[in-house]
Amino acid sequence: MAPRQQQFDFDFIVIGSGFGGSVSALRLVEKGYRVAVMEMGRRWNADNLPRTSWSIHRWFWRPKLGLRGFFNMRFFRHATIYHGCAVGGGSITYACTLLRAPDKVWESGTWAGLADWKSEMPAHYDTASRMLGATENRFVGPADRLLKKTAEATGTAHTFYRTSVGIFLPPVGEPGDQTVPDPYFGGAGPERTSCGGCGGCMMGCRTGAKNTLDKNYLYLAEKQGVQVFAETKVVDVRPLDGVSDGSAGYEVRTEKSTAFIRRQPRKFTCRAVVFAASSLGTMELLFRLKDKGSLPAISARLGKRVRTNSESLIGARIPGSTDDYSQGTAIGSGVYIDDHTHIEAVRYPSGSDAIGLLTTILTDGQPGPQRVWIWLRSALVSLVRHPIQTFQLYKPWGWAKEAVILLCMQTLDGHIEMHWERPWFWPFRKRMMSAGEKVPTYIPQANEFAKKFAEVGGGIPMSTLPEIFFNVPGTAHCIGGCVIADSPERGVVDERHRVFGYRNMYICDGSVLAANLGVNPSLTITALAERAMSFIPQAESVPKGAANAAAEPAASPCVA
Ligand SMILES: Cc1cc2nc3c(=O)[nH]c(=O)nc-3n(C[C@H](O)[C@H](O)[C@H](O)COP(=O)(O)OP(=O)(O)OC[C@H]3O[C@@H](n4cnc5c(N)ncnc54)[C@H](O)[C@@H]3O)c2cc1C
Ligand code: SF4
Repeated sequence: MAPRQQQFDFDFIVIGSGFGGSVSALRLVEKGYRVAVMEMGRRWNADNLPRTSWSIHRWFWRPKLGLRGFFNMRFFRHATIYHGCAVGGGSITYACTLLRAPDKVWESGTWAGLADWKSEMPAHYDTASRMLGATENRFVGPADRLLKKTAEATGTAHTFYRTSVGIFLPPVGEPGDQTVPDPYFGGAGPERTSCGGCGGCMMGCRTGAKNTLDKNYLYLAEKQGVQVFAETKVVDVRPLDGVSDGSAGYEVRTEKSTAFIRRQPRKFTCRAVVFAASSLGTMELLFRLKDKGSLPAISARLGKRVRTNSESLIGARIPGSTDDYSQGTAIGSGVYIDDHTHIEAVRYPSGSDAIGLLTTILTDGQPGPQRVWIWLRSALVSLVRHPIQTFQLYKPWGWAKEAVILLCMQTLDGHIEMHWERPWFWPFRKRMMSAGEKVPTYIPQANEFAKKFAEVGGGIPMSTLPEIFFNVPGTAHCIGGCVIADSPERGVVDERHRVFGYRNMYICDGSVLAANLGVNPSLTITALAERAMSFIPQAESVPKGAANAAAEPAASPCVA
């Protein structure tokens, strides 16, 4: 009988097809490995993407309720976390903003000093930017012009910038919606249609102008032989043949994520595993596998130092304006209102008004019940003094055309923890629960900026209801939980993303980030994955027999 190492179904199994997963898949297949990607979400294209956010079943991901979209909201005591779930991960729903983290982030957190990040990362950022087609936004819509005017009124105009976006923009002076052969990869990529500035990026781009991962990394990976298993959820990963450190390979078990009854369980074997299921997804899977004894040696630091990028969502609604605030790209511009606080102008496409149900009148004050009273008082005062305007703030139709969300992010260090425990309200099953100090939901300088923004635009400033009622910040940028560190006493992976306690096991997603970036994280996740994959040797260069021994924490490569 052939020895086990020649019988693996795949050399690598990558769990998740988001930014970290797609980079891993492409770079590994280019190095000569046989690669599979297991992805819980569905494939999306112009024909099945929703037209507006009212098409809840095509937007939200909650398969047990029959919702099979690409966007999920998870509620924890310390944060409401928004994330993507699709072939292409968060790229299907993300707002395409691709920003480099400031150099100072490499000096804080458990990754500080483990590599010469400041000199290594620029080259990986360059590759990531090229692959994702990052370019300066040229669609400056009414929301961006209002942000600029507000910056001028608050003395921060010098910090106004147009975002770098991963979108195929039309050439200067030409209209959008034009289809051309692959403009990015010398003909190896798919044909593309240029952006028309409809503001729909977060509802999925039906034009095909958004540089989602299924049009770059994942597209090229599949072309080179990577097998992507869609609607396939990984439920178990355990070392093969009782070799507890995984040096004899792994068995990966999956189920059909969209099945109601017949879960279609399957088993695959592989020599190496890359966890790339996002910060939340990887933490949840590893907690489960550690708890059930499949991967008991995962560091006890799992779930520690989870960061929400210190965010707050405020904004303004400008009823009766002749401007259509949904026009432009989803995040077209930003400003820095102080050294730590960054604000971006965000929009949804015309007709996508459902998210407006979460917005309300701007509310100041300390978090807690007191803030709920302040909200109630502000709403009542506004109703009495400006009844028409208040009605216009709350009416659900026309919201996307009239509203601008201001996404406020801070580099200040705040973090929470995730635990795996039985909730008091449902003690029959363990689940991931948040713990620790609450991250502030009320950022006074952000509220002041929102007030000025509304004043300059002639509208009404807004807060979001979960922030007021539950003192829970909302974030689309959950990072950390399996952070890079020098030892299992401080983190879950080393500086080459190798999981402490196991061989041939890596984590390449937002969970490894060890500091609040203060900017949207996808470009950094992509660049870090590029860096991690650069340490893995070509398949044929690893001598047979040495293969499984190679990926110890102190050494580097894996498999052959
Ligand atoms: C509405 C919205 C807008 C955003 N806008 C921006 C932006 O403009 N710029 C920016 O930088 N970031 C943005 N983000 C954040 C960005 O999407 C994430 O930071 C990024 O996608 C994280 O990348 P990742 O590689 O960690 O994982 P993801 O891209 O989240 O991919 C993980 C994948 O793993 C899959 N998965 C999870 N568990 C399993 C399992 N057990 N088995 C199989 N598959 C599994 C998931 O379905 C998912 O597809 C936005 C997010 C949202 C929700
Ligand atoms: S603005 Fe519209 S066309 Fe342009 S990338 Fe976003 S969704 Fe696509």
